[in-house]
Amino acid sequence: MTTIASPAYIGRFAPTPSGHLHFGSLVAALASYLDARAVGGRWLMRMEDLDPPREEPGAQAAILKALESYGFEWDGELVRQSDRHDAYAEVLNRLSNHGLAYACTCSRKQLEPYHGIYPGLCRNAGHGTEDAAIRLRVPELEYHFIDRVQGEYRQHLGRDVGDFVIRRRDGLYAYQLAVVLDDAWQGISDIVRGADLLDSTPRQLYLQELLGFSQPRYLHIPLITQPDGNKLGKSYRSPPLTEDQATPLLLRALRALGQNPGAELAYATPREVLNWGIVHWDALKIPRTLTLPEAQLQ
Ligand code: GLU
Ligand code: ZN
Repeated sequence: MTTIASPAYIGRFAPTPSGHLHFGSLVAALASYLDARAVGGRWLMRMEDLDPPREEPGAQAAILKALESYGFEWDGELVRQSDRHDAYAEVLNRLSNHGLAYACTCSRKQLEPYHGIYPGLCRNAGHGTEDAAIRLRVPELEYHFIDRVQGEYRQHLGRDVGDFVIRRRDGLYAYQLAVVLDDAWQGISDIVRGADLLDSTPRQLYLQELLGFSQPRYLHIPLITQPDGNKLGKSYRSPPLTEDQATPLLLRALRALGQNPGAELAYATPREVLNWGIVHWDALKIPRTLTLPEAQLQ
């Protein structure tokens, strides 16, 4: 067991209510929860409801209910990103006024040839912000950080990403902006989440630097994948987490994270499984891979 004296640990789980909780999100919730509680840290809950058109009705309540029935308890009030629009607007205006962000009117079709790397077409166009996306200028620099599981990760923002969207053309705020503002506002010290977000982290490091925020520690857990190689829950409907499966699925999630719960825990309550996980948590045992096929898990 690793014991790090860190009274200032603040972690979080930040689900998107585009669907119900599935096994992959359970693994992410469990990892962030255990990593926080193992050092006596706080664990906060944030609903990332930035995109109402893609929200599934009832998903927010279903996610919270599932987490509760699996024995999770979070600290403080739930934060909803839909309540934070004023904070996002304030920073977006500040970035625009400093010439760090600009309006982009490129259509999806126009950008097709560039394979997701924005070539800066609107950088100096001086478009108005109505009916336009807002993009953040990126420097021609490589950003890197040391992930606690994945090791060193590097990405050149200019070459590999390009100026990225912080407010969409339909007026919705982008994940990259909201996540950085909220993690700083909530005082998050440690971000534990799926490895599908590893390649978003350098953008977030750049935003933190621009806004003068300190850099949290990062731990990206392997993404649980379906037989077709996609993220669980993305293209096919993985089953919702039912209450009667709480103990076996928590045990399976612990094993996916490289932990070794004993056979006697098969008869434990979800809360007892979590308590075992807190006492025995060893982040060094998490598999050092980007993906884990669900079919290979016991
Ligand atoms: N809301 C994101 C998701 O559900 C997680 C964001 C994060 O942890 O930074 O995939
Ligand atoms: Zn453009």
